[in-house]
Amino acid sequence: MNILVINSGSSSLKYKLFNMDEEKVLVSGVAERIGGEHSFIKHENHEKTIINVNLPNHKAALKEVLNLLMDAKLGAIKNLSEIDAVGHRILHGQEAFSESVILDQEKVETLKGFIEMGPLHMPANIGGIEACFSLMPDTPQIGAFDTAFHATIPAKAHLYALPYELYEKYKIRRYGFHGTSHKFVANRAAKFLGRPLESLKMITLHLGNGSSVAAVEDGKCIDTSMGFTPLEGLVMGTRCGDMDPAIVPFIGKKLNMTPDEVDELMNKKSGLKGFTGISNDMRDIQQAKEEGNKLAQLVYEMFIYRIVKYIGAYTAALGGLDVMVFTAGIGENDFEARKDICEKLSFMDIKIDEKLNNGLRGKETRLTAADSKVEVLLIPTNEELSIALDTYRLVNNKK
Ligand code: AMP
Repeated sequence: MNILVINSGSSSLKYKLFNMDEEKVLVSGVAERIGGEHSFIKHENHEKTIINVNLPNHKAALKEVLNLLMDAKLGAIKNLSEIDAVGHRILHGQEAFSESVILDQEKVETLKGFIEMGPLHMPANIGGIEACFSLMPDTPQIGAFDTAFHATIPAKAHLYALPYELYEKYKIRRYGFHGTSHKFVANRAAKFLGRPLESLKMITLHLGNGSSVAAVEDGKCIDTSMGFTPLEGLVMGTRCGDMDPAIVPFIGKKLNMTPDEVDELMNKKSGLKGFTGISNDMRDIQQAKEEGNKLAQLVYEMFIYRIVKYIGAYTAALGGLDVMVFTAGIGENDFEARKDICEKLSFMDIKIDEKLNNGLRGKETRLTAADSKVEVLLIPTNEELSIALDTYRLVNNKK
């Protein structure tokens, strides 16, 4: 069975074609600068190819991608009927979708009502789905939501202490994001340890350009650091994460900025990059820190401190901790950040083995030291495979 996974961004469309019998990627790639000048597709089968092609919109991009999949030299299939289903990554399921679903026109209309919740991503996500409906009308389309894994967070943790009618009227609450990643690594971690997920208290740390923490009890998410939008929580590449909300009107008044301008400052001009003026990439921050840059040193300390604070809080929320999982760009690659986080948690008997921590990359690894009471794992995330697995499950249940 072949499943195509699509992740549409505002000006990009990532794709991966899986053979699910072997859980193997056949071809993958990304169409970039959709709707702009100099658009192109970066395609990968055995080798990488760049195709310069005009891509005025998502439908045109998908059409080119489907042609590539069927190309005799670059592709993997002969005709579109060899794609058994398509899985779409969707940013927001609001309260309507608490798990992956088979999409139809009615559900797409419901999604259109959530555009306000994700004005950058939702129109692109919907555009990708509509393009598939029109180009592959007989192929089942499945939606997997970044918010879905967090639907189990109880009201005491997902509500804000604002007037309750704001929740009732506008659905202002914590939704959380990176759900496919947290769910995937939590499942993989339990399998790796050979223990039932339903018996574990777990903290999953998705540390990338965007970062979030999730507290998982018996396989269900009970809290997460991102909130109404992906701005809340940790210090990120360009996002500030938690701060006193009263700073928003204060900055607005001082700098004569509109609410949208302050929003952009907090989302795109803050975090590692905004604080240092150097870069949103942790590798650049690490290098600047080594060269003696004071702001790089400080923002790194802030990054680590915020994570440690969340782990302490979530251990209390869980009433203990069995497993901690590192994933995503920084979580998987930055052994120094992992070491610094775990060192600050040694009072909780969380300890990692230095040799294991400095060892192999990109592979599921147990980092736990012999005298640690908590298992510490490195689990590479694979959001596309997670979506493909959900798609496979839904399509087969239906049959
Ligand atoms: P992601 O959003 O998961 O793709 O993660 C992207 C981020 O991972 C980059 O912005 C880097 O800051 C970070 N990253 C990737 N490789 C490394 C590395 N070897 N050391 C430190 N950070 C890394």
